[in-house]
Amino acid sequence: MSYRELSYWLSTVDEPLAARPPLPGDTDADVAIVGAGYTGLWTAYYLARADPALRIVVLEREIAGYGASGRNGGWCSALFPTSLTGLARRHGRGAATAMQRAMQATVREVGRAVAAEGIDCDWAPGGTVVLARTDAQLGRARAAVEEARAFGFGPEDLALLDAGEAAARCAAEGVRGGTYTPHCAAVHPAKLVRGLARAVERLDVTIHEGTPVHEIRPGAVVTPAGRVRAPVVVRATEGYTPELPGQRRAVVPVYSLMVATEPLPAETWARIGLAERETFSDHRHVVIYGQRTADGRLAFGGRGAPYHFGSRVRPGYDREPAVFAALRRTLGELFPVLGPDVAVTHRWGGPLGVARDWSASVGLDRATGLAWAGGYVGDGVSTTNLAGRTLADLILGAESDLTALPWVGHRSPRWEPEPLRWLAVNAGLRVMFSADAAEARTGRPSRRAALFGRFLGH
Ligand SMILES: Cc1cc2nc3c(=O)[nH]c(=O)nc-3n(C[C@H](O)[C@H](O)[C@H](O)COP(=O)(O)OP(=O)(O)OC[C@H]3O[C@@H](n4cnc5c(N)ncnc54)[C@H](O)[C@@H]3O)c2cc1C
Repeated sequence: MSYRELSYWLSTVDEPLAARPPLPGDTDADVAIVGAGYTGLWTAYYLARADPALRIVVLEREIAGYGASGRNGGWCSALFPTSLTGLARRHGRGAATAMQRAMQATVREVGRAVAAEGIDCDWAPGGTVVLARTDAQLGRARAAVEEARAFGFGPEDLALLDAGEAAARCAAEGVRGGTYTPHCAAVHPAKLVRGLARAVERLDVTIHEGTPVHEIRPGAVVTPAGRVRAPVVVRATEGYTPELPGQRRAVVPVYSLMVATEPLPAETWARIGLAERETFSDHRHVVIYGQRTADGRLAFGGRGAPYHFGSRVRPGYDREPAVFAALRRTLGELFPVLGPDVAVTHRWGGPLGVARDWSASVGLDRATGLAWAGGYVGDGVSTTNLAGRTLADLILGAESDLTALPWVGHRSPRWEPEPLRWLAVNAGLRVMFSADAAEARTGRPSRRAALFGRFLGH
């Protein structure tokens, strides 16, 4: 499969997707970074800006943006995988609020950086509308707003919408209310990651593509072409992390899949809305997400693809016809104007990383020089930028507001060995799907889904 076929986004970047030269042989560097997605590239970007003398080498098995960074839903949001309540339980109220404020500032920082670097990624800061279409979903919308208020966030951060207000933003079938936050921008994710790769090269960072890393050890990265010796090594491999020696149980790769329609005419958009290119979702359990693209398509995705035994990641897992069909059905249910005559032109997917306690984390072990960031679940488009700035501070030894945030240095427990992992993750998916189906029938919230969420520590 050519790189362009990996996602609608990669098929529309305005540059050749030929790999940069691979690592030529043994090399010395100050910082070696494994993975050229947003995490690796933002880390290189902020490090190189802070200290232009640093020798920074990024090693990528395929091409920059091959992973989730070139395939995602393009929500650059202030969402963080752990809720405010969950963060407060573990780290205290102040830390939870600081984390949320840092995420909001990160959305603004990505906007600033793409403008400063001239990265044309269809940036549209239209916020996010999350719809409620059943009683159970309305209950979760109210609960989300109550939680925000309890932590000092006002309507300017998260507003409760009545049916009319929600439908004015996104006129999905049967909308009864929802929530709206301005803290999100829709982006073209592949233009962002490819533009970022060029931006770090302008800062004299070296990117070697077509260079698989077989092992990360203190002071060195091992590839078939040679080693990069570096006192600091950053692991930025997210959903692919379980393939590295010793990391099998660090995160589970969960697949998220997407479809995109043909460009829709103005009359159709007049009926759907999303006039400010708001990203949209609803308050169901199995996450769905969408955006109106700059060229007038509806790009729409969801989780729910099966987890594969042994945390395996394979290109074929990106394509699950049953999930694509379910996404297409859901689109038609949400927007009857998108009937069978409206063509879906693109289908794709990719792996994201989920830690056992659902916590994203970033850190540097000073004793070994090994650094990492990941476990963003489906919230990495902006969180990777916060990770990159934080890693730069940690590596340069700067104490800052960022290095004091509660996710820094957090160590998630490892996932269960197989077959328990396979049983638990796939059972969880089934519980969430059946909860959504039951709620759609009865309107009442599912107790089983809430219990399972607690088991996962979500
Ligand atoms: C379909 C989909 C939709 C999503 N939607 C959203 C969204 O709307 N908003 C949001 O915030 N998040 C979303 N996410 C999640 C988000 O895309 C990720 O959290 C983010 O891109 C992670 O970036 P990363 O750089 O850490 O990982 P990746 O982008 O996966 O990059 C990892 C890189 O490491 C390379 N690599 C791996 N192993 C090796 C090795 N051994 N040697 C060399 N290189 C290696 C890979 O080839 C890859 O390029 C979505 C994810 C998917 C899959």
